[in-house]
Amino acid sequence: MVNYRYLGNSGLKISEITYGNWLTHGSQVENDVASACVRAALDAGITTFDTADVYANTAAEQVLGDALKGERRESLEIFTKVYWPTGPKGPNDTGLSRKHIMESINGSLKRLDTDYVDLYQAHRFDVETPLEETMQAFADVVRQGKALYIGVSEWTADQIRDGAALAKELGFQLISSQPQYSMLWRVIEDEVVPASIETGVSQIVWSPMAQGVLSGKYLPGQPAPAGSRATDEKGGAQTISRFMNDETLTAVQNLKPVADELGLSMAQLSVAWVLQNDNVAAALVGASRPEQVAENVKASGVTIPAELMKQIDAALEDVVVRDPAKTLEGMPKKRPA
Ligand code: NDP
Repeated sequence: MVNYRYLGNSGLKISEITYGNWLTHGSQVENDVASACVRAALDAGITTFDTADVYANTAAEQVLGDALKGERRESLEIFTKVYWPTGPKGPNDTGLSRKHIMESINGSLKRLDTDYVDLYQAHRFDVETPLEETMQAFADVVRQGKALYIGVSEWTADQIRDGAALAKELGFQLISSQPQYSMLWRVIEDEVVPASIETGVSQIVWSPMAQGVLSGKYLPGQPAPAGSRATDEKGGAQTISRFMNDETLTAVQNLKPVADELGLSMAQLSVAWVLQNDNVAAALVGASRPEQVAENVKASGVTIPAELMKQIDAALEDVVVRDPAKTLEGMPKKRPA
């Protein structure tokens, strides 16, 4: 079964393997397969589920809500997010203004068919809304009982510090940061992680498998396997493209002996790797098939010895991205319309 970790400086425990439905539910996979993946997650001991209003333009929340129907609400941790535009994309259907936050949470709760979410996350930093306004709106969402805790995603170290200070002043808990983190993408290590430790914030990390690349199934110079994300023309092929070059795919194949030594698949190794970092509360793993969920949960509780961690670093040295400036570089410079 899956181990639990505390989320930030709070009493909330979450499953260290968390199931996420970006690009899959309401898009790449049919609804019956989506339900089967959620079932596989529950059967394997995953209790924490992550989605966002923007995934499949709100359809992903609906699919997840349907798939979780009938489950005991108190036994689940349901996370969603606000920021990116959805619906008719009017001037206020975006960002972290008080108006958009207060309206978005209601839409998310309806689609997820629940009275509250356990964690409500700012999907990005909104450079057009005063941070005080955003944090006051989150405080009110918490006081209304619509969200129990608040988190952020892809915020810089300074933004996390400022947000955490305001949350404290306003009397609610900012407990999580959701950044990209994997053996190939380590940009949070130098700044975001130290700021998070300082402020009582944990990481819930996305794409720990680099969208499937670290499973080793994409071979240099060969076509991508049928049905994989790299062949998904609804969005997956484009988002995975940053890793789909021969240099990266060749380096990834060097991880096979490390996985073999631990008796793990390469997919399991990649998930176990992010969980070696104590500031990571959960690896946020996606799946297009239930068997993948069953395989990936076995990464829970694995310890990778120091000499094998070094071997991983040596294998990937030339292709790892570490520059902490990437968080700010990737941030929208204005509110998306
Ligand atoms: P992963 O890196 O875990 O990639 C998941 C994909 O890899 C699956 O959909 C599947 O794709 C493939 N895969 C999974 N398991 C295996 C396996 N055992 N063997 C081979 N291939 C496998 O994570 P995601 O990129 O899906 O992101 C996870 C979650 O993170 C999202 O659902 C979302 O909740 C969150 N997220 C958050 C973001 C943010 O801005 N806050 C941004 C992006 C994601 P296939 O079979 O199609 O190849």
